[in-house]
Amino acid sequence: MNIETVSGSKGLLQKEELIFDIGTTETTGVDLPKPTGRKGRLGRLKRENGTGLPGLSEPEAVRHYVRLSQKNYAIDLGLFPLGSCTMKHNPRLNEKVARMPGFSDIHPMQPQHTVQGALEVIDELADWLKKLTGMPAVAMSPKAGAHGEWCGMAAIRAALIDRGEVETRTRVLVPESAHGTNPATAVQCGFKVQEIAASDDGRVDLNDLKAKLEGDTSDVAGIMLTNPNTCGLFERDIKEIADLIHEAGGYFYCDGANFNAIVGRVRPRDLGVDAMHINLHKTFSTPHGGGGPGAGPTVLSDRLAKYAPTPIMMVDKSDGERKLVLVDDEAEMAGTDHKPLGRMCAFHGQMGMFTRALTYMLSHGADGLKQVAEDAVLNANYIQSRLSKVMSPAFEGYCMHEALFSDEFLKDTENETVDIAKGLIDEGYHPMTVYFPLVVHGAMLIEPTETESKAELDRFCEALESVASKARSGDSSLKQAPYHAPMRRLDETQAARKPVLRWVAE
Ligand SMILES: *Cc1c(COP(=O)(O)O)cnc(C)c1O
Repeated sequence: MNIETVSGSKGLLQKEELIFDIGTTETTGVDLPKPTGRKGRLGRLKRENGTGLPGLSEPEAVRHYVRLSQKNYAIDLGLFPLGSCTMKHNPRLNEKVARMPGFSDIHPMQPQHTVQGALEVIDELADWLKKLTGMPAVAMSPKAGAHGEWCGMAAIRAALIDRGEVETRTRVLVPESAHGTNPATAVQCGFKVQEIAASDDGRVDLNDLKAKLEGDTSDVAGIMLTNPNTCGLFERDIKEIADLIHEAGGYFYCDGANFNAIVGRVRPRDLGVDAMHINLHKTFSTPHGGGGPGAGPTVLSDRLAKYAPTPIMMVDKSDGERKLVLVDDEAEMAGTDHKPLGRMCAFHGQMGMFTRALTYMLSHGADGLKQVAEDAVLNANYIQSRLSKVMSPAFEGYCMHEALFSDEFLKDTENETVDIAKGLIDEGYHPMTVYFPLVVHGAMLIEPTETESKAELDRFCEALESVASKARSGDSSLKQAPYHAPMRRLDETQAARKPVLRWVAE
């Protein structure tokens, strides 16, 4: 049976070329008369050649992007099992609130007395984040998890400058299972990274940590640790780890990307954390992926609070108005102990993310947020337990909010982790996270979140069980999967090494 079609389209799924290949740069999609009688004011900046943009009519352009969007897998289409990413359903109520004109049609340079409501939302959200983490301060402006890490580590750096130890305290300990952004952040902030080994049960090897803190610790700046960690496990020794790092004179940065597993149940302050970012776009919903949009507010302990970046939200004592104060506003800063590390970005964070996150919190309530964590952990353990019959769990015991498998069950076959991922595409699911964390061979990390029903979890497990069983039996057809996707296997190495990011006319 020949399933190829002349058009390249399949069923109602249409083949789509690059926009440059549909339109030509010689035609134009608009129908405006050439301006006459006006003197150009661009001078030597006046463009001499065409823009090189393809000319398409409005319906052609609209169809192009709608067709592309239909090739995209989305949380609104089905379960998104990507571990570490916390891809959960985004309540439509959040969207409704984010689109209210008082939030969506304001400009960051508007006079502050005209955006008091928006400032109040930011402040109330900040208050929730402080309560949920037990921390006294939060920097709202970081625009992603990685940006929040940068904020936290910059606060640690500012504290070290204050202590006169920034030249000497340069060592940051990072577990080998860490998310890649952790060591990258440490280096970006001028620190040197020292790896801590993982134990056989997927946690920080406490003996290795102790060995690295033996003797002279005058060069220790801190530790960056994720909890629950990237293996989906709670770091049982976290309080001891915090004590050890504090005794060594360093600070404890906690990567809070996995806060979904513990929100409402654990306060990071009680664990000895000094700084932690929270991915609003994971724990508190928001459509995310592909690098944005996001928000990574960073909570700071008593020891770091005063280094929080500007602008700083203050309340005017005379009229009760909220205002964002900059560091060079000496009159406002006088009498406070703020020593801001600087500014993270032009404006005060992502308003759309703030409104969505606060809506999520208010609609769940404190008890509901606690249940978020409980249900997320329950769902992950259901998946781990069910799939353990055909796949190899990476570690023994219960997991937190994500289930981790190794490729052990494939060892006598030609099939590899990537083949399972591709097979899952044919079953209509976006693959789980693969080959991360690096400490587990051929890792497969699955995070269902709390927003999936048991029926959906069962459907997903059935699909993955079928692919895993096929792979286990040595069925080599998986090597060519996916068969039904618009694109088959791509040369991923070539794409990473020699990316073609610019369209060039042939
Ligand atoms: C997602 C994630 C990050 C980075 O967050 P971004 O918002 O993507 O920058 C950092 N650490 C862990 C463990 C994560 O899962």
